[in-house]
Amino acid sequence: METLKLKADKKGIEIAAEILKNGGVVAIPTETVYGLAANCFDEAAVKKIFEAKGRPQDNPLIVHISDMEMLGVVARKVPEIALRCAEKFWRGPFTMILPKTDKVGDCISPNLDTVAVRMPQNPVALEIIRQSGVPLAAPSANTSGSPSPTSPYHVEADLDGKIDAIVYSDECAVGVESTVVTFCENPPRLLRPGGITPEQLKEIIPDIVIDKAVLSESEKGELVASPGMKYKHYAPKTESFLVEGDSDAFVGLVNSKENCVAICFKEDTPKITIPTLCYGDGEDESSLAHSVFKALREVDEMGAKEVYIHAPSKRGIGLAVYNRLLRASGFKVITL
Ligand code: AMP
Ligand code: MG
Repeated sequence: METLKLKADKKGIEIAAEILKNGGVVAIPTETVYGLAANCFDEAAVKKIFEAKGRPQDNPLIVHISDMEMLGVVARKVPEIALRCAEKFWRGPFTMILPKTDKVGDCISPNLDTVAVRMPQNPVALEIIRQSGVPLAAPSANTSGSPSPTSPYHVEADLDGKIDAIVYSDECAVGVESTVVTFCENPPRLLRPGGITPEQLKEIIPDIVIDKAVLSESEKGELVASPGMKYKHYAPKTESFLVEGDSDAFVGLVNSKENCVAICFKEDTPKITIPTLCYGDGEDESSLAHSVFKALREVDEMGAKEVYIHAPSKRGIGLAVYNRLLRASGFKVITL
């Protein structure tokens, strides 16, 4: 199929919404990563998302809304604490898991009586949802398992010819996916760290539980709260290692390697003698979040045997970056 290339202007947004109303799938910009959107009430359209991405059928989708009225259409019950989080973190990189209404079909969250909901901040995403007139199911617009797309060119590399259209806009502001919190238990539990940090969450939910899968691998056969936690994720094809240590220790390790690449901080770069990809300033976790997926994509173009990645701090949004890099490296961590 031919994939339409749309600008993120008035005309492009109108065409995107029209395709979505007619059961198509469109890659759209959001502040987290690019999403692959479809009408969440159209089972055939949602099926196209799974096919284009090669996504496991049991991994449920986040539904994106443009206003609070839409929340009532998909969520049966919204506890008071969830409403307070919505007030504080929407529009933004924050997803709530809530009991679902009958309108939300099995194609969105198979075998679950819950739905994941988010109201994005990106104005292009919001306008596309608004003009489509329905909540949009939208996982990341990449091939399942590969690094998430933070530019329309990443989407093109994975999905050109497999989806109806791509809306071309800027690089994503945040660069990692949304924070996922379930409100279907008390106290609420953080399932995936993201753009909203644990520190921010604790201001509203002081007793929030951090799921142990955030920083560790789930055991075989273990029951996981979020089906997405089961899969290896975000991984480059090059064999990857996550390295914990200060700048001098990291530099010492990578400089002893041959045919390898380092994904490192700005402050490491001048001291490294092997090829590098810098993903930001080690003291500025937001800069690392912004560029981490781009670096994971670029490493495969360098033809290296292995890649050594300097681990970020777990402060603030650093926890989300660390969580993605753990999965990208298949939980192979070197502590110096
Ligand atoms: P993405 O594929 O990046 O859109 O990520 C969506 C994440 O939210 C995945 O980890 C899913 O497993 C998780 N998720 C979506 N819906 C639910 C739900 N109803 N219950 C638990 N986790 C969910
Ligand atoms: Mg994804």
